[in-house]
Amino acid sequence: MGGFRVKSVLAILALGAMLACASLPARAAEACPGDPAAPASTPIIRVGTKGGPALGAMQYPQTAPLAARQVAFTFDDGPNPDTTPLILDILDRHCVKATFFIIGIYAERHPEIVRDIAARGHTIGTHTWSHPNNLRHLSLANAQREIRRGFEAAEKALAPAPEESRARLLPFFRFPGLNDSKPLIGWLSARNIATLSCEFGSDDWRQISPAEVKRRTIRNIASVGRGILIMHDTKPRTAEALSSLIVTLRRQGYEIVQLDAAVDARALAAAAPDPLLGALNHAEAARTGQSAALAPLTNPSLETGESLR
Ligand SMILES: [Zn+2]
Repeated sequence: MGGFRVKSVLAILALGAMLACASLPARAAEACPGDPAAPASTPIIRVGTKGGPALGAMQYPQTAPLAARQVAFTFDDGPNPDTTPLILDILDRHCVKATFFIIGIYAERHPEIVRDIAARGHTIGTHTWSHPNNLRHLSLANAQREIRRGFEAAEKALAPAPEESRARLLPFFRFPGLNDSKPLIGWLSARNIATLSCEFGSDDWRQISPAEVKRRTIRNIASVGRGILIMHDTKPRTAEALSSLIVTLRRQGYEIVQLDAAVDARALAAAAPDPLLGALNHAEAARTGQSAALAPLTNPSLETGESLR
């Protein structure tokens, strides 16, 4: 009888513990270690790249399939050895995954940072080889060369990395200054490369304080409600504003999400005629990826960075 009672009490205690666990919010079990108020993972939003859509309501009729109050962070113009690692650490601390649109010439200079971006699970797209501020001012052939070399540099930087990291480079392209052209979008579309614009910017390329970057970003997001946000991982003011921006957005009920592509996106891009992504001989790239000679800068504004958007 006594044994039965003990067993019953234990059973009730066990049941009580189970019910207590079950009634806790799901996120409490998977809180972000560096930011317990935040979830441990970033929800993934998959973008179809077949036929190379142009996405982002600031410029195009279509955008990524984001729900209300979902915001996807994107960072342009890196990798930069002074600021990109800081940004990566802040994102990690808050369990945020983002998308990085990298410049080829910098990927070639700092391939280890590109591999770090990928190893930490972020998405990588490209942003040309040398960031001409308006590709429309180049001949079509030169503009295409800029885009192609951007993808090649990203593939080369990732070539020595494990397959899982190499797969973080997706058929995503962003025009410098968002200055697109119909012929170039058509050329990208034929290669199953999606053009990603945005819903809102952060004004972080302007000479404003980190607090002002945060204020304008939140204002811009609030005016649209959901979308793709452009920032720059080359700007110290962005690194300074980022942690507080993430916390405030989440407190205001926004969900930060990560852009990704449909699972066959890389294969689709590689299977296109005259492909931009997947064209590189991997073994060759792995051999030469770290020792590629630096090409001369073709865009002087890269040296100052201030005018880059
Ligand atoms: Zn840019």
